[in-house]
Amino acid sequence: MHMTSSFPLSRGRFAPSPTGAIHLGNVWTALLAWLDVRQGGGAFVLRMEDLDPDRSRAYYAAQLVDDLRWLGLDWDEGPDVGGPYVPYAQNERRSCYADALSILKQHDLVYHCYCTRAEVREAASAPHGLAPREFCPHRCWQLSMREQQAREVSGRRPCVRIRIPDGTPEIVFDDLCRGPQSEKLMQVAGDFVLRRADGVHAYQLAVVVDDGLMAINRVVRGADLLDSTARQIWLHQVLGYPPPEFAHVPLLVDPEGHRLSKRQAALAISALRARGTRPTTIIGWLAAWAGLIPAHEEVRPVDLVGLLDLRQLQRHDITVDTDTLC
Ligand code: GLU
Repeated sequence: MHMTSSFPLSRGRFAPSPTGAIHLGNVWTALLAWLDVRQGGGAFVLRMEDLDPDRSRAYYAAQLVDDLRWLGLDWDEGPDVGGPYVPYAQNERRSCYADALSILKQHDLVYHCYCTRAEVREAASAPHGLAPREFCPHRCWQLSMREQQAREVSGRRPCVRIRIPDGTPEIVFDDLCRGPQSEKLMQVAGDFVLRRADGVHAYQLAVVVDDGLMAINRVVRGADLLDSTARQIWLHQVLGYPPPEFAHVPLLVDPEGHRLSKRQAALAISALRARGTRPTTIIGWLAAWAGLIPAHEEVRPVDLVGLLDLRQLQRHDITVDTDTLC
């Protein structure tokens, strides 16, 4: 008899923002997230995080698909291949975020905040240490409907913030790379923004709605996002999605300790391609930095399946000798 396993297959994702040419740092995360899923025989999702219309460009999205394929990575669901949870680009998923906001509103968990960025910045830098909710200096969470209307008439456009209820328990989770974590949401994050004043949904909302609706259960991403995770776990819980497991992998940094970024044009995959660097050479660098192979050699992603142990990855940033690569 054929037995089916009740253990859910992993569903992981890579969720780049197409705001520049992808570089070694992005591909590092993509490779580790891809290996994590491929080792478990699960499904890998490519999701385009192109929410911000001011910074996202369609040609970067097209280029990153091409660069990832050239490197030997593939995905089971994504903007170019479709899948059961279409669409896979955030700018086509705005109605999902609006629906989530309506649910939160029904639970009285959101409010309009009319404070300007400058006011919030000023409140946050107050010397006597405010709780994050006080970063909204006009105490917008207390405004009556009439007071809100008065502010609308004065021409101020509000952002939408979550209202973290008093008594919300500490968020505790076990990061697959970094071990046990905990955060008191109200003390650290406060009533964070879910929709900006210009109407664009915030990353924190969109990422949770997408991971939730796409049934993502493994999130492997850069350690720079560790401090967003408690907020996201809590939002998952509030919206009724089972939170995924998280693994925050170390960042690649240059010899000065700066995170590799889209500003370092020489480390863009397109620039390396143009110089004749082979995809197997690039994957070899990443694999050696991750300790998957003892020293650099030419490898394909598929050669590395089975070698990644997230719990064995080092926790500190990995310095890349950028001069020797370019
Ligand atoms: N879009 C984010 C980035 O490119 C990643 C978000 C995530 O993985 O949760 O850094």
